[in-house]
Amino acid sequence: MYRTHNNGALRANHINETVTLAGWVQKTRDKGFMIWVDLRDRYGITQLIFDEERTPKDVMERAKTLGREFVIQVTGNVIERESKNPKMPTGDVELLVEELSILNEAKTPPFTIEDATDGGEDLRMKYRYLDIRRNPVKEKLIFRHKVSIAVRNYLSEKGFIEVETPYLIKSTPEGARDFVVPSRMNEGQFYALPQSPQTFKQLLMVGGMDKYFQIVKCFRDEDLRADRQPEFTQIDCEMAFVEQEDILNVFEGLTKHLLKEVVGFEIENFPRMTYDEAMAKYGNDKPDIRFGMEFGELNAVAQHKDFKIFNEAELVVGIAMPGGAAYTRKEIDALVDWVKRPQVGALGMVYVKYNEDGSFKSSVDKFYDQDDLAQWAAVTGAKPGDLICLLSGETFKTRTQLSALRMELANRLGLRKSDEFAPLWVVDFPLLEWDEETERYHAMHHPFTSPKPGQMELLDTNPGDVKANAYDLVLNGNEIGGGSIRIHDKETQSKMFDYLGFTKEEAQAQFGFLMDAFQYGAPPHGGLAFGLDRLVAILGGQETIRDFIAFPKNNAGRDVMIDAPAKIDEDQLKELNLKITL
Ligand code: ASP
Repeated sequence: MYRTHNNGALRANHINETVTLAGWVQKTRDKGFMIWVDLRDRYGITQLIFDEERTPKDVMERAKTLGREFVIQVTGNVIERESKNPKMPTGDVELLVEELSILNEAKTPPFTIEDATDGGEDLRMKYRYLDIRRNPVKEKLIFRHKVSIAVRNYLSEKGFIEVETPYLIKSTPEGARDFVVPSRMNEGQFYALPQSPQTFKQLLMVGGMDKYFQIVKCFRDEDLRADRQPEFTQIDCEMAFVEQEDILNVFEGLTKHLLKEVVGFEIENFPRMTYDEAMAKYGNDKPDIRFGMEFGELNAVAQHKDFKIFNEAELVVGIAMPGGAAYTRKEIDALVDWVKRPQVGALGMVYVKYNEDGSFKSSVDKFYDQDDLAQWAAVTGAKPGDLICLLSGETFKTRTQLSALRMELANRLGLRKSDEFAPLWVVDFPLLEWDEETERYHAMHHPFTSPKPGQMELLDTNPGDVKANAYDLVLNGNEIGGGSIRIHDKETQSKMFDYLGFTKEEAQAQFGFLMDAFQYGAPPHGGLAFGLDRLVAILGGQETIRDFIAFPKNNAGRDVMIDAPAKIDEDQLKELNLKITL
């Protein structure tokens, strides 16, 4: 037996017991006649003491050779500590060592294995296994485990069956590029790694599984974006004989359960908002509703004077920043510069100070009088002491810019509290989205999403207006997941592919199997998927997902520890009949 207890276990009631411990040397303090060692494992730290007078001589000698991160096993007697450490769960006791074996020596680690390490990001990634020994990383992995288990238990209790779907498949379009895997046995042919198990879970519904879920890896070869991983994990679900309402209810339940179980946060309000409303009120389809600052549309009260910029704008829209009237001229100028940065892209910003005495001072006093400004205050919900910020221009762009400003101001004002949770369903997404590059409509969610009843006809006349039975779960301004009610008949699915620009042959070649299946009694069905990595990070009160993944890729999509991606042997290439022509 390697150990009788772990390093977080010993308490005062163990005093006088003989125990065996194993673990890593966190640090040693050598006073010559006495040596203290902090012994660490996943469960905690126990202090060991080697004492010239009480510890055998050879053990004492060996103890002097211990270095950081050596792996050792010790046996000894639990004794009361002279100076107790109330900050450590094991702080009342120490182990007076009688036997010591060095199980493995260790090179000096490239960074300190402490909660606050001196290791930079790159170094920590290269030696991720050492990083995982540190509490902050270890605890995040354990936290992730708790979330996964809670998800599995909840869904299983609700009758969902976890079914594994294959990783070597044919492409499923979810808006990204596929990672492909050459097939040795089928020369010149490739598998694709799933961007999601979408078609398989639909086939499971045709197969009568009724309620499916899977905690599953998905792969998307997307352009590099901060905090995206080429492989990520989804909680993927599908249900048969359901309407949108049924799905929202089940996953609202799951979300509430997770918040309560894992972070002890009880949700009373679980609002729903249409996509149109989210865009109009927050300029964003994943609004953070932990704070107000809702948009006020000002066309009606701002386009009646000689101010050309507003008069020519499709939309004039503003928000009230609480307490912002106290901003100095310099601070306001900095804010104007902020919205003019290329990342935001506004041409300028009009502002109104709503003074504590009820008067207004604006950057457009030449054009608007106090009554006009009072109306703007009413529309944006501004109170004395606030600063009203207005942007104008083309509707979508202007909303996006004001949304960026709203988030920036909320961050500055400390309104985005990591221990507060505000989930929200955004529903009634458009079915299609215009793509500037290809100059055509694409499925906003994916091509298997059904239009709302009776809207299929609109496809020919006003495609941009067609709404889908599609929904997203938003948490604290992050899209946690989304899904839809699916098309479940061949004819509609085939029409949808036509509409999206697939030729009959392409649709048949890529999705013939799905449309065939629809001819053998496909039940009405729908589902969704949550991004587990992001969900876990947000529940853990963090913005970045990387630390919640045991072995993440860096921002360039590389695993710097194993050095992947990498070249493969000539022999391997030959076997696969592949040629690199670089
Ligand atoms: N497959 C979709 C996705 O990965 C989720 C769904 O529609 O169920 O976003």
